[in-house]
Amino acid sequence: MRIQLLPPQLINQIAAGEVVERPSSIVKELVENCFDAGANQIVIEIEQGGTRLIKIRDNGCGIEKDDLSLALSRHATSKIASLHDLEQVVSMGFRGEALPSISSVARLTLISRVANVDCAWRVSADGSERDFNPQPDPHPQGTTVDVRDLFYNTPARRKFLKTEKTEFAHIETVVQRLALSRFDTGLTLLHNQKEILTLKPAVTDVQQEQRIAGICGSAFIDNAVKIDFEASGLRLSGWVGLPTFSRSQQDMQFFYVNGRLIRDKLVSHAIKQAYQDVLFQGRHSVFVLYLTLDPALIDVNAHPAKTEVRFREGRLVHDFLFSALHRSLANIRPGKTTAATY
Ligand code: ADP
Ligand code: MG
Repeated sequence: MRIQLLPPQLINQIAAGEVVERPSSIVKELVENCFDAGANQIVIEIEQGGTRLIKIRDNGCGIEKDDLSLALSRHATSKIASLHDLEQVVSMGFRGEALPSISSVARLTLISRVANVDCAWRVSADGSERDFNPQPDPHPQGTTVDVRDLFYNTPARRKFLKTEKTEFAHIETVVQRLALSRFDTGLTLLHNQKEILTLKPAVTDVQQEQRIAGICGSAFIDNAVKIDFEASGLRLSGWVGLPTFSRSQQDMQFFYVNGRLIRDKLVSHAIKQAYQDVLFQGRHSVFVLYLTLDPALIDVNAHPAKTEVRFREGRLVHDFLFSALHRSLANIRPGKTTAATY
């Protein structure tokens, strides 16, 4: 066979293989877009585990009418414009891939309205059919992305979807993780028209702990201490579980770097070491931790789903995490169960 350039639709479907693993990955991408748009109110409507409908509405900055078709085009983004921007990106997105990928494997409608205009505008893309001629819509300021019939045109991928219950459980997990990354944002999650989760913006410490309790259970917050450390331009804040409140699985470990939930060997190692002397073998610590650092010190372009980062100063980060946690744990008096700041 001779070499040929692939059609754009197929290129997007290949990219979708990386970005759109299942309905929950769509929810993650779309909610991250809401965060990037500065929204503080997000409503997520799901039907049939996300296979029939994923509809996400925000009150963010919206998209200009003339940019709507670009939003659905590959490699088009408002978030970076140069390598320099990429090297210090603070937004969740920057690849300009999510919307075109999703629209290549589902029926997508995008409705958006920016401030100070008369109405919202709507475009849709449905597999190979793309209607980029914007139609007026009464939507308020902000954006709604409506995604229907996931994988309707890629039956091989549809077969990999699990039951409605399992897919929705994945969505719920993703929404919980996102909710822990932005306390200032209100979130509502509905499944088959039933309200599953309603989170008001959490500003005060008490409200934040209520949100954590709602997601990780009140036992977590009752058995955790609040920490806040700063050194060498790095800041680690959040909640760490008491050694007496460990788990048999690593299912209550949330680590965010500049607002992005990541899994990282170096981070896990530093935390494990810090807990080493105080935790029984085979048990796992619990934590909700936020590392904040100069974005130029991390490379977020390490993974299509952006669940990994590379630290430019790995040793520095490792040692900072270890010593911050080690000191926090050393400060915990036996029997202490209330939150305190060290
Ligand atoms: P990326 O997030 O990497 O830029 P996406 O495909 O997710 O790529 O989105 C493409 C563009 O569409 C974004 O750069 C942004 O300008 C716009 N966009 C997407 N979702 C929203 C939203 N909820 N509110 C405002 N703009 C959005
Ligand atoms: Mg995005």
